[in-house]
Amino acid sequence: METILTIQNLNKRYGRLQALKNVTFEIKKGNVYGILGPNGSGKSTTLGIVLNVVNKTSGTYSWFDGKVATHDALKKVGAIIERPNFYPYMTAEQNLKLVCNIKNINYTKIEEKLELVGLIERKDSKFSTFSLGMKQRLAIASALLNDPEILILDEPTNGLDPQGIHQIRAIIKHIAAQGTTILLASHLLDEVEKVCSHVVVLQKGAVLYSGLVDAISANEGFFELQADDTENLMAVLQLHPDIEKINSEEGKLFVYLKKDLKASDLNRFLFEKNISVNHLVKRKNSLEEQFLELTKK
Ligand code: ADP
Ligand code: MG
Repeated sequence: METILTIQNLNKRYGRLQALKNVTFEIKKGNVYGILGPNGSGKSTTLGIVLNVVNKTSGTYSWFDGKVATHDALKKVGAIIERPNFYPYMTAEQNLKLVCNIKNINYTKIEEKLELVGLIERKDSKFSTFSLGMKQRLAIASALLNDPEILILDEPTNGLDPQGIHQIRAIIKHIAAQGTTILLASHLLDEVEKVCSHVVVLQKGAVLYSGLVDAISANEGFFELQADDTENLMAVLQLHPDIEKINSEEGKLFVYLKKDLKASDLNRFLFEKNISVNHLVKRKNSLEEQFLELTKK
């Protein structure tokens, strides 16, 4: 699979603040990536660096297998990293014509992209009359005018009402379905879960997880256990190779896993160690619970 962007050991310092710590991940063609992390975790800094608007402190990144210099590579990248900014007194179409002039793109793309973002009927309306959601959709149309290989969006639904959020997400999915690679930054777990195929979870500038969105929601899970002798249960559980960590709460043990483990297999393991439990439930952590767990550490 073709590599669009490779990021290796990227570090960023703002004075004494280490905003990025050895950030490493890869973007492959055709996937939808989410950079997920709470505010201040380094999402915008990461995007700023690869878009050449923020200077890195150390580390490397390369576009398109390093075959093209960053300056030329960025011509194949569509990005929206700030609030959409167009001329308020000009119409949607006039604003896009201006972008076409600057980027040397044929006007024929304008109709197609306005159609894609659902603004074709409003092409003659002034930008100043647009809702925030429409402004954001116009920005997406603008970023797509040159048919980029990858579309980069920073918090694309921030500040929008539920309907606006829904529309933007639907458009992103539609663009992805047409084969455009997407990288979006979001602090919203459900956004990443709904829109992305892959996720890079950032916490305080460090990558906590990078991989399939599915893997976060489906993998691992945890057990809730109870026995008359909690201490003995705890001691025996600590011997199990598939167990990552054990939390004790109100007489129950919460057992987090390194890898998948069936309830029946755990039960047999305990039985063989002469422990009978009076409560054993396997819970599948939702992506949200896992994200909260990840970001709590
Ligand atoms: P996110 O986009 O995930 O909210 P940012 O990349 O914007 O995170 O910020 C990461 C950290 O770097 C935060 O602690 C933020 O305050 C800090 N930071 C971002 N930009 C600057 C800057 N220009 N000068 C100083 N600190 C900055
Ligand atoms: Mg940000």
